Amino acid sequence: MRMTSLLVQTLRDDPVEAELVSHKLLLRGGYVRRVAPGIYSWLPLGLAVLRRVEGVVRQEMNAIGAQEVLLPALIPREIFERSGRWADYGDGLFRLKDRRGVDYLLGPTHEELFTLMVKGECSSYKDLPLAIYQIQTKYRDEARPRAGVLRGREFLMKDAYTFDIDDAGLEVSYKAQRDAYERIFGRLGLDYRIVSAVSGAMGGSASEEFIAPCESGEDTFVSCLGCDYAANAEAVELAVSPADASEHPPSVVVDTPDTPTIATLVERLNSMSLGRAFSAADTLKNVVVKTRRPGEERWELLVVGVPGDREVDMKRLGAQLEPAEVAPAEPADLESVPGLVRGYIGPQVMSKLEVRYVVDPLVSEGTSWVTGANEPGRHALDVVRGRDFHPDGEVGAVEVRNGDRCGRCGGELRIARGIELGHVFQLGRKYAQAFGLEVTGPDGRPVTVTMGSYGIGISRAVAAIAEQTADEAGLRWPAAVAPADVHVIVTGKGSEPYEEADRLASNLERRGLNVLYDDRVGPSAGVKFADSELLGMPVVVVVGRGLVNGVVEVRDRWSGSRVDVAVSDAPEAIAAAVSAAGSSGAGASGVGAAGRAG
Ligand code: ATP
Ligand code: MG
Repeated sequence: MRMTSLLVQTLRDDPVEAELVSHKLLLRGGYVRRVAPGIYSWLPLGLAVLRRVEGVVRQEMNAIGAQEVLLPALIPREIFERSGRWADYGDGLFRLKDRRGVDYLLGPTHEELFTLMVKGECSSYKDLPLAIYQIQTKYRDEARPRAGVLRGREFLMKDAYTFDIDDAGLEVSYKAQRDAYERIFGRLGLDYRIVSAVSGAMGGSASEEFIAPCESGEDTFVSCLGCDYAANAEAVELAVSPADASEHPPSVVVDTPDTPTIATLVERLNSMSLGRAFSAADTLKNVVVKTRRPGEERWELLVVGVPGDREVDMKRLGAQLEPAEVAPAEPADLESVPGLVRGYIGPQVMSKLEVRYVVDPLVSEGTSWVTGANEPGRHALDVVRGRDFHPDGEVGAVEVRNGDRCGRCGGELRIARGIELGHVFQLGRKYAQAFGLEVTGPDGRPVTVTMGSYGIGISRAVAAIAEQTADEAGLRWPAAVAPADVHVIVTGKGSEPYEEADRLASNLERRGLNVLYDDRVGPSAGVKFADSELLGMPVVVVVGRGLVNGVVEVRDRWSGSRVDVAVSDAPEAIAAAVSAAGSSGAGASGVGAAGRAG
């Protein structure tokens, strides 16, 4: 790859459209270009990284016996109607019509088509277990496409699916995929955690995510300091302490005029000489939201009870209630139920009002609260769950905080942010049932197949690697995915350095190395150095000033180290530097080398 002819244009300044480091650098380095929100073109260097990531994923999938197939992105509506996802996916689906007016969609993921493929090809338990996958473009009309290829509306995904006749088989298939994911992300030089996840719109049971810890990530996850529990904040289970409902005094209503907020209420209560001190944590806050089931016009009110010192995390609540949509209730929604007195709502009357009422598990059975008395300016003390009110269910809805207690061991939870790299699901029989996927079992009777589904964002991984490895100067590709193994830069005047660099570049290529060769004549040495740091190949070789002493300079992009090497030894030394960079997982200094699980 000669830079004089390579289609690459580096930019000096950060593009205004980009906030994230990876996004800025991929644009500045000429790796990708934006076509429309969430829609990107890949230029040669970007495509090279994308193909290398794809290659690692493909190798590890093949190594566990998964077979590669390719399914269409264009899917008839009828197929998604059968799984219920034509409605469930809501606004996230790209929908279109053919010339006859028949509805189609662009596949956001492919459970339906894979289920149908196996139904068409397999008829006996002897055909299973089966693992198949594809690396294919997906379409999702994301609400907030941001961060470049990290969250695209068109993006490349590896999606694998497994098919087994029983739960034990599914466990084995799931484990094989999960292990392959660990090898993949390790080879890609990504630092990652495996966390429990909500199964969401997919339905099904066990589900885990692979998350790359990263300040700019959109996912929040927790890890326990006391045990190996880790979970997406959407799925976290906090420790709860149930109480004995009979221990509490009977509930009484007190006048608390002008106390529509938790803060004003606590201040008022503490000024009333009630014989005890109150804090926000003693109050029960009842937040009114509205939900709408897929495909329905009508919104339904839902009241969510949480401890008064906590906020409702709308993203978490949304994930728990999927595929239903959730939105904050408007004043007009509240007016439709006159019994809901704004600022003074309590759960005591919910069943009478026929409003659905759920609590966060922290509002556990037998616990006692100060809450609204459902009259303006009045609150009720000692309102006990299981005695004075009975919620319709529990939904994890509170915003999780650092120091919250682990539901497994009671240990302290720590919060961090990250990027979801991949997701492994035990889907179970949901799709097999919807499409009638059965095979004949060993006893001759039909068995419904059980499935798993496993995704990796290939294009997202490119950005995630960039995000985790970049430094102030630019990109810093791990050797396993760099678009070239070595970047040869020629500097200086006259033809000699160019001839020497030509020879070196050819020699390196003959050795099987992939060379990016900056053979441009115009740009200064400074510009070329800056470009090499921006573009981020793991090994950089400078052919120029050192030639008078018979040396070239070999730079390690990871550690920043520089050594002079005799021209005659250069090919050997460079090949060795490249293989050292490769064997340490990430760059030679190994930042973020082999990911850690758990
Ligand atoms: P997210 O929560 O980030 O929207 P998801 O949970 O909806 O992702 P999955 O359905 O689990 O995503 O898809 C499998 C993988 O595909 C994800 O783990 C992620 O790496 C990748 N992916 C999902 N959405 C996008 C997107 N909009 N752009 C790029 N990659 C994506
Ligand atoms: Mg996911």
